[in-house]
Amino acid sequence: MATERLFDKVPYVYTFSAVVCASEEAGRNRFHVALNRTAFYPEGGGQPADRGTLAGLPVEDVQEKDGVIWHTLSAPLEVGTPVYGAVDEGCRWSNSQQHTGEHILSGLTCARHQCRNVGFHIGKEAVTLDFNTVLDWEDALMLEEEANRVIWRDVPVECFWPSQEELSRLPYRSKKELTGPVRIVRIEGADTCACCGTHVPTTGCVGQIKIIDRMNYKGGVRLSILCGDRALAYENAMAGEYRETGRLLSAKAGTHAEALRRLLGERDALKEQVARLSMTLFQAQAMALESDEIRVLEAREMAPASLCRAAGLLAKGARAALTLVPTENGCLFALCSETEDIRPAGKALCAAFQGKGGGSAGMVQGHLSPCSPDEAKRCLTAALAMEGSTR
Ligand SMILES: [Zn+2]
Repeated sequence: MATERLFDKVPYVYTFSAVVCASEEAGRNRFHVALNRTAFYPEGGGQPADRGTLAGLPVEDVQEKDGVIWHTLSAPLEVGTPVYGAVDEGCRWSNSQQHTGEHILSGLTCARHQCRNVGFHIGKEAVTLDFNTVLDWEDALMLEEEANRVIWRDVPVECFWPSQEELSRLPYRSKKELTGPVRIVRIEGADTCACCGTHVPTTGCVGQIKIIDRMNYKGGVRLSILCGDRALAYENAMAGEYRETGRLLSAKAGTHAEALRRLLGERDALKEQVARLSMTLFQAQAMALESDEIRVLEAREMAPASLCRAAGLLAKGARAALTLVPTENGCLFALCSETEDIRPAGKALCAAFQGKGGGSAGMVQGHLSPCSPDEAKRCLTAALAMEGSTR
């Protein structure tokens, strides 16, 4: 037997009494319980299931199947017993705010841009609305302002079931073809839509609608919004973040971007300076190794882009020259020779230090797991000695 839906006619019934109609085991410590009537909204139409308690047990999920609403509990309830249910008011109110805000913004968007709302989901991070049209930020902000004006007018959110005849004369939005009685939600000046969700009684109760993101999505657009209490929490978090960045940048409100641009410019100039200095230091260290046949040098702070040039410098007049640039998880390397095919030695190096690399006879480049210049030099010397003996 279908469950009586207490939330359909009056959305702010939070506590209720009912009788248990069915109780089924649904896994380890999980039971599905059906009642003759319930105020728990089941997940559907983009809106999450209500939370709360039933017979003192936390309601973990609520789903509808063939008109029967099933409550997920950690213990079974005996069929025929009367029970008391309490829906989490804060959670329901917030979901109703998000849902009503969605109606206002979707209705206006579809009317202004002659498009369809093709997706809606109340998620943990944000409420997402998908439209089969392209909207830029300017369009989105105009719609946001118009939607908030509907909120400030504080008009009623009406829910009703028109007769088939009335319905045929009523222009309304719907995501799918509907059969049977259709529940219509009407917000004057904003939306008329078929919907089975919960809503706040007047638009003023939505508080505000804030669009927090806009992205191209499946050939259309996805708007991420927050309404009411969630919009306020978001704005408080952003304002806190803004105060903190202002403190870190020593910048007044309204000048953060300018201060950050200046800081990034300074960082880039310093990076270039470090690269120049590291090359100068490398050249001096390379000079000190001039009498060695096999040379290994670590170039800390050197930009990876300078590695080839540095390796070429170190290789002047050497049998083999290995330049190492430490990274987070090992080091980049360039192994050069002006006199012989260096690839076998490169292979030996990669084998010894779990590396990967490749290149030409004159230069092999790649990455090694962490190794000291001394370890690398011992490995390289051994590899070249072996080649010498087999030649
Ligand atoms: Zn709705």
